[in-house]
Amino acid sequence: MHSPLTAFITLVCTSGVLNLYLCFYVFKKRHNYRDIANYFILYTASITVYCFAYAFGLMATSLWEMKFWTAVQYVGLPFSPLLGLLFVMKYLGMKITKKSLVALLILPFMSFLMVATNDFHHLHYRIFEIDPVLGVPYVHQEIGVWYMIHGIFTFACMFVAFLLVLSRWKETSRVYRSQLFAVMCGQLVPMVTAFVYLTGFTPSGIDPVPMVLWLSSLLYLWAINSSRLFTLMPIAKDAIFHSINDGVIVLDESFRLIEFNQAVKKMLPKLSKNLFGVEFKQVWPILSGAPLPSKIEPVDFQREVLLTVDDARRTYQVRTAPLQQAKGLLIIFTDITEIKRLQLRLENLAYYDELTQLYNRRAFFQKCEEAFSEAKNNALPLTVILMDVDFFKNVNDTYGHHIGDQLLIHVAKICQDQLQENILFARYGGEEFVLGMAGKNAREGWELAEQLRTSVETHALQTTEGMVSVTLSCGVAEAEKVPEETLNLVLNKADKALYAAKGEGRNQVKIY
Ligand code: GH3
Ligand code: MG
Ligand code: MG
Repeated sequence: MHSPLTAFITLVCTSGVLNLYLCFYVFKKRHNYRDIANYFILYTASITVYCFAYAFGLMATSLWEMKFWTAVQYVGLPFSPLLGLLFVMKYLGMKITKKSLVALLILPFMSFLMVATNDFHHLHYRIFEIDPVLGVPYVHQEIGVWYMIHGIFTFACMFVAFLLVLSRWKETSRVYRSQLFAVMCGQLVPMVTAFVYLTGFTPSGIDPVPMVLWLSSLLYLWAINSSRLFTLMPIAKDAIFHSINDGVIVLDESFRLIEFNQAVKKMLPKLSKNLFGVEFKQVWPILSGAPLPSKIEPVDFQREVLLTVDDARRTYQVRTAPLQQAKGLLIIFTDITEIKRLQLRLENLAYYDELTQLYNRRAFFQKCEEAFSEAKNNALPLTVILMDVDFFKNVNDTYGHHIGDQLLIHVAKICQDQLQENILFARYGGEEFVLGMAGKNAREGWELAEQLRTSVETHALQTTEGMVSVTLSCGVAEAEKVPEETLNLVLNKADKALYAAKGEGRNQVKIY
């Protein structure tokens, strides 16, 4: 055997073996990969057939054998550039419809048929014979019409694939550029070689493409192992991944950190690529300064987490979502600080009085009804006090509404400061306040009311208009321990007592 021929066969077989390895490697792990892996498996399988059939062709001893192996070659050769293109399209997140897939497959299939039946029509090879100078297995060929079509199609597939990858270069984040570069060169190597071959610069009678395909295989192998081609989102999804406002962390099936987006980096500034491969339960304390609040499990789960970001407390809603196909886990962080703030504000508006920041009438009724039924159930006393500021209209008339407001705040504060936590205190209306005391009887209510009345009377408020003081009149009523007693009835009694206090000269406390 000629020594250059041995070299050719070795190169072609290397390409074949490497592609076969790639094909099996990805096939074995296809469940971990996304559906681009399927195209890659078919792509490498077609190249494997092409290479090995070509290698056998180089070992042929007759024209018939040469023709036979050429036909076998065409089981893979015309399909590989198309499958390569489809693989690239999938990789870039492009859609491939079934119709266009079938339409595109017609041409390579025709090429196979043309070569297999070439002796009958000579449309693919006008002449296909043993090279008169070099002898078997070198071919002397003259191309036919179909060969031209096949050549253009092959070249176009590789060229489009190359351009598609190139067009995404700019928008691809740096981490994936090496991956993109590998895919691009994987297409470029056979394309350039085919071009050189077609222009006639390579030794005649020999197709150099299978001899360089091992180079593409090595590039793919490198991309798979070093930058996790297939296992991560393709570039198009990558762009979305980084542009969304939600922070996303990706964990593998053993809950090790494998990816995160830019948004989460802002939320957790200590997150870095150095932590790739580290278990998340070890990563989280580094990021947040606190241990993981609960065990991670591959289930849908949601909780709120408070984090300090740039010296500000922020609230995040943290969701976990299992990745069915890749068996990993997504952790999604949504900043709900503003929503929480708004929610708190709405709650505040619904339950608190804006001026005094005491409970409003609605909150009082809600809370006191609860206390009332609890006291009733436990046969405990419950007492309410209604307090009304005396001659408050005069204060407004004399000093203005603004001072009136200040006085209401002042009265509320004086009272609040003297109350135990279990006593309900609310603004009942304009210049009226109410107290609800579970476990206290009327006598104890009277004592408290007296204490508050005295405090208010003796604590004048310093205003821009000078010292202003007011007095309180209070009505106290204890709930009767009868089934028909209601909170409203008790409040009515307290109101009557208050009316009596007003009638008897104000600035005093009356028990119903
Ligand atoms: P009485 O001793 O009989 O209770 O006399 P009063 O003047 O306190 O009673 P009246 O019910 O005649 O007047 C209550 C006044 O309280 C009328 C209203 O303008 C004033 N008022 C109610 N709410 C507010 C408020 O939020 N701010 C101010 N500045 N005044 C208020
Ligand atoms: Mg009043
Ligand atoms: Mg009043």
